[in-house]
Amino acid sequence: MVRWLVADSIWWGGRLRKGVALRIAENGAIKPVPAELAPLAGTRRFPGTLLPALVDAHVHSALVDLTTVRAGGIGSVWDLGGVPTDVQDLAARARQPGSPLPRIRYAGPFLIAPGGYPSDRPWAPAGSWREITSPADAALAVAEAQSSGAGLIKVTAHAGGPMLPPETMRALVEAAHASGLEVVVHAEGAGTVAAALAAGADMLAHTPWSELLGDTLVRDCAARMRWISTLDIHGWGDPDPAREIAVVNLRRFIEYGGSVRYGTDLGNGPLPAGINVREIRALQEAGLDPNAVLSAMTENDSRELSWVPDGLTLEPEGFPDSLATARVLDDSVRPR
Ligand SMILES: [Zn+2]
Repeated sequence: MVRWLVADSIWWGGRLRKGVALRIAENGAIKPVPAELAPLAGTRRFPGTLLPALVDAHVHSALVDLTTVRAGGIGSVWDLGGVPTDVQDLAARARQPGSPLPRIRYAGPFLIAPGGYPSDRPWAPAGSWREITSPADAALAVAEAQSSGAGLIKVTAHAGGPMLPPETMRALVEAAHASGLEVVVHAEGAGTVAAALAAGADMLAHTPWSELLGDTLVRDCAARMRWISTLDIHGWGDPDPAREIAVVNLRRFIEYGGSVRYGTDLGNGPLPAGINVREIRALQEAGLDPNAVLSAMTENDSRELSWVPDGLTLEPEGFPDSLATARVLDDSVRPR
């Protein structure tokens, strides 16, 4: 059955609109259309603003309570590293009607150099990473991840330990792309961003923070990559020097036209389980206006919706707190 929703305003496709209804097709696809097309009977009417569900593009679902995260306004998450079978189970539960979990898109295990990051870290359980021994093995690892339902491939490049040789990294990206999967790289330390770029990676899991990047490198990244922000991991509200480096790198990336995804690395340190106002303010500091922040937090083909009951304010100062009142819309949500 086609469903119709109307609200005081609707934020979609990069801007706030009035006089627009949302048409939800039988298959779940959501499309904004002129409000006069909505039938009088059966249309759900909301005060405030409807928008595509807010997405946190970097979480670790084993390390955080996702029910709380959804209650905190996040409708969809990207799990960027966990034990594949665990994440797979959770993602299946999240797809059940009426689930209190956010939708979960997930990467397979961290694909790493033998002995590489994060196999040397206490927080990374056995099974959450897989060592890649050769370019041929790279193709096998991507196939394994895809058969476990992964929608992304996560690769690590950490200068503090063994790194994958360039040809193996390249083979990972080629195998992922041949399977229709995008590659997210955890790049940390000198030379790792350049290595990810040279391999053809699609995204970085974090805004680079360990050093200021050269101009040419930032420009080339902006032309070919998306960066997941994770600015608030640097001090969690008590900024450390890495935060400033990350903000400056991100500002230059944005100035060169680079595309940003909002992501917080939830599960890593004392971050709020839900919409992170500090991350939003940091994105504004790096040069995104409220419409651009919303674009970084949403997907145009979203099948979930968020609702800001008092209406979204796009005035930069009040915007983060206004957005933080967003709730994930489902049948249990009743307009006042
Ligand atoms: Zn992470």
